[in-house]
Amino acid sequence: MRTLGILGGMSWESSAHLYKLLNQQVAARLGGLHSARLVLHSVDFAEIEALQRSGDWAAAGELLGHAGAGLKAAGAEALLLATNTMHKLAEPIERLSGLPLIHIVDATAAALRAAGIRRAGLLATRYTMEQAFYRERMAQQGIETLVPELDERDEVHRIIYEELCRGLILPSSKLRYQAAVRTLAERGAEGVILGCTEIGLLLDPLEAHWSPVPLFDSTVLQAQAAVDWMLAAPDSQSIPSSAGT
Ligand code: GLU
Repeated sequence: MRTLGILGGMSWESSAHLYKLLNQQVAARLGGLHSARLVLHSVDFAEIEALQRSGDWAAAGELLGHAGAGLKAAGAEALLLATNTMHKLAEPIERLSGLPLIHIVDATAAALRAAGIRRAGLLATRYTMEQAFYRERMAQQGIETLVPELDERDEVHRIIYEELCRGLILPSSKLRYQAAVRTLAERGAEGVILGCTEIGLLLDPLEAHWSPVPLFDSTVLQAQAAVDWMLAAPDSQSIPSSAGT
């Protein structure tokens, strides 16, 4: 099994979920007492969030890139970045760490394409919904993304930082997210991406009978891509779903 480095803690609520998914999937595939071979650097999310809010992405890239270098020194052979938003910094993280990233957009795009979806709704932080890094990488893989209108984007973003990243799962917010999914479907989305790693704590794609379109949970999909890579034959392609950065 290859050793995976995780840049986590953004937030720890979703990293805890990711840690469990990785171990469950390795156990399901190898059986017995097998578990995932991992090294984790879990950041203080308050520091990261302050850098996001002040727009100091360069400092955040340095911080995460150097954390990734530490994971490489600890034996990691590739990185999983346990947040969609910070994939904005994929390039400096790969450069400073010297490790390839198993990219969350590629893992998500592969699942959308396999489901025959070409136009997908996106629920995520405002950074992910509004900046180009996510949309463009999806477009390169043949997927058009649709985001909610401004008021709804604000509310989706607020719920992530004020509730989900703090472990608050509120029924009222679940209803807001369900409404956002329905609106995206009415506007032509053939599926909706849960493009923030905490949203799967609020909406479960396997229990989405209320939804007119399928949901795609980025945390589950990045875990699957990572386990595929960890368990791939040694001579196989190093990063299975990567479109290249
Ligand atoms: N976990 C979130 C994401 O997937 C938001 C927290 C962050 O900004 O990193 O984008």
